[in-house]
Amino acid sequence: MITEQRVLEIFEETNGLLTGHFRLRSGLHSAKFLQTAVVLQYPEIANMLCSQVASRLQKDLNLDADSIDIVMGPAIGGVILAHEVARSLDCRAMFGEKSGDSMILRPGFEIQPNDRVVVIDDILTTGGSVARLISLCQQQFKAEVIATAFLIDRSSNDTEITSSQSPALNRSRGQVFQSTSTVGHLPNLADIPRVSLATIDIPTYQPSDCPMCQENLTNGRQPLTEP
Ligand SMILES: [Zn+2]
Repeated sequence: MITEQRVLEIFEETNGLLTGHFRLRSGLHSAKFLQTAVVLQYPEIANMLCSQVASRLQKDLNLDADSIDIVMGPAIGGVILAHEVARSLDCRAMFGEKSGDSMILRPGFEIQPNDRVVVIDDILTTGGSVARLISLCQQQFKAEVIATAFLIDRSSNDTEITSSQSPALNRSRGQVFQSTSTVGHLPNLADIPRVSLATIDIPTYQPSDCPMCQENLTNGRQPLTEP
């Protein structure tokens, strides 16, 4: 079983975990930045990480591979992951696509009532896309979502979400995603068993409170970059 430390090392070695001074899309600043697609460009690494996810689903959650019908991820980030985990579990892989405030399936993907689904994504931050996929499986197809899986869980830091554009999101540890937004009642990720290969705390800062910005003013190091 690969250790959490080794997973983070792999991210660093492949430039999937950058250290510096970053301006995130939200406008917040951070000293670390995760980019999973860069890690997954190496099929061997993608396969290794995803076979670990498949093992953890079976060992940590006591799931029988035969009892899993579908692994589903949100496009784009979850497509490769769903496919590789499904390969390890010998089941089908699907992906959902964003449509307005919901997720939809491409025509032709079939889910039967009571199909057992694992929903996967690369990074757990707010869990919004995964919650929407769970809702799609449960509400539209009456399927059973038996687990969620993530390569990296960085949900412990709640700065980003409380500062984001969506006031409907409410996050704290163990209660990752809750919403009272216009898409209706989204499932709470805390209600569904979850595995992740590593946990990392990445603090984010308002520009006015950013320690790297402060340092920049005094000694000129760590210029702000937009990854
Ligand atoms: Zn800054």
